[in-house]
Amino acid sequence: MILVFRKIVFVSFVLAFLVTGRAEAQARRVYISVDMEGISGVVGDDQTSAGQPEYGRSRKLMAEDANAAIRGAFEGGATQVVVNDSHGSQRNLLPEDLDPRARLISHSFKRHGMVEGLDESFDAVIFIGYHAKADSPRGLSAHTGSGVVKDVQVNGRSAGEGGLNTLMAHWYGVPVVMITGDDVAVEQQKEWTPNVRGVVVKRAINMRAVEGMSPAEARREIQAAAKESVAAAKKPSRPSEAERGQGYKVRMQLRNFTIPEVATAFSEIKLVAPDTVEFTRATMPEAYRIIRVLYRFINPD
Ligand SMILES: [Zn+2]
Repeated sequence: MILVFRKIVFVSFVLAFLVTGRAEAQARRVYISVDMEGISGVVGDDQTSAGQPEYGRSRKLMAEDANAAIRGAFEGGATQVVVNDSHGSQRNLLPEDLDPRARLISHSFKRHGMVEGLDESFDAVIFIGYHAKADSPRGLSAHTGSGVVKDVQVNGRSAGEGGLNTLMAHWYGVPVVMITGDDVAVEQQKEWTPNVRGVVVKRAINMRAVEGMSPAEARREIQAAAKESVAAAKKPSRPSEAERGQGYKVRMQLRNFTIPEVATAFSEIKLVAPDTVEFTRATMPEAYRIIRVLYRFINPD
């Protein structure tokens, strides 16, 4: 009897090893960056800041759009999903609200902010709850990084949060396969990734008013889109030698003169106008880290 039992244990061990080995060979890692302004059911500024009466509702709505994407990602073949809280304090998503299969990155003290933890080991990137870039004529709470930014250009091209995060994904050779948000956020993302799957959960009438889809319907669409886009994801090549050779030249225009002046403490940062700085870095992650310091961590007030 004991011998039979031992044999069963041994066979189970071998089977478990084979199955695990196979799962590892086919690992499909999905990275989900979740912002708040473009979440279904979020319709105004008073919902997106901690301490506001509607904030508690919004963080639940945020978790539910994220959960829809997580469900879809697993249905589309993901073996691991990492969610990065990407809004404000980046402590909006409550771990207990999130699908337990996903892992959660929290807190805004991150060098890579909205794409913290993203690297070449991932197979697909999904943006959930994104919004239009700063100074868009339309788009709910349009901004880039924080309210101090008027425009960011990388190698001559104006980029919002979706654009900057796409450049990071491109650096690591991971495709951005899906985005959700208002119609302006989705349109702007298509300028960077024309084949991205977009789920428009609301139509921006202007910067404040929106015509929104019901959250229940939005979640159904998000789940279906995540399933399809993750199943179809193909890893592109990383930036070519020529692309890497030119480096990443950043021009950043701010809404005040104080941050640019303080920023000249860093020798690589040049003041090219009272409200505008320029710098060049060899890699996109280096450029991204400086952009983040400029809009978030220099606070002369
Ligand atoms: Zn944002």
